[in-house]
Amino acid sequence: MATEYTKPLPEINDENRAFWEGCQRHELLLQQCTECGHMRHTGPACPECWSTGAKWTPASGNGVVYSWIEVHQRYNRAFEDDLPYNVAIVELDEGPRLVANVTGAGSHDIQPAMAVEVVWDDITEEVTLPRFAPA
Ligand SMILES: [Zn+2]
Repeated sequence: MATEYTKPLPEINDENRAFWEGCQRHELLLQQCTECGHMRHTGPACPECWSTGAKWTPASGNGVVYSWIEVHQRYNRAFEDDLPYNVAIVELDEGPRLVANVTGAGSHDIQPAMAVEVVWDDITEEVTLPRFAPA
């Protein structure tokens, strides 16, 4: 675990707190609509039926790369040592898409629809980031 973490941290609020607490336990949680069963990442209402009823449900942690970019430009000094790095959209088996990094693979090794699985990066005492590695 890093002793000094200088990159931006997620803003944890009442809407996403359960998600981030799950990450601390290395458990990837999604919201499942209690009306229609649709799975979503986080949000105040179901995008399918607009119900506000939802329960936090563990996801498999498995998915595929939907898209990705490789960042070569330094937009934030805290990321300078990581250049180049990727930012990917991972489509989970349950349907929702997460923005995350793919670790353990060079950018030229990442392929569309490549199978990935969640891995955990405990960046601070309070925050653990889900990242994805080739499955
Ligand atoms: Zn619904």
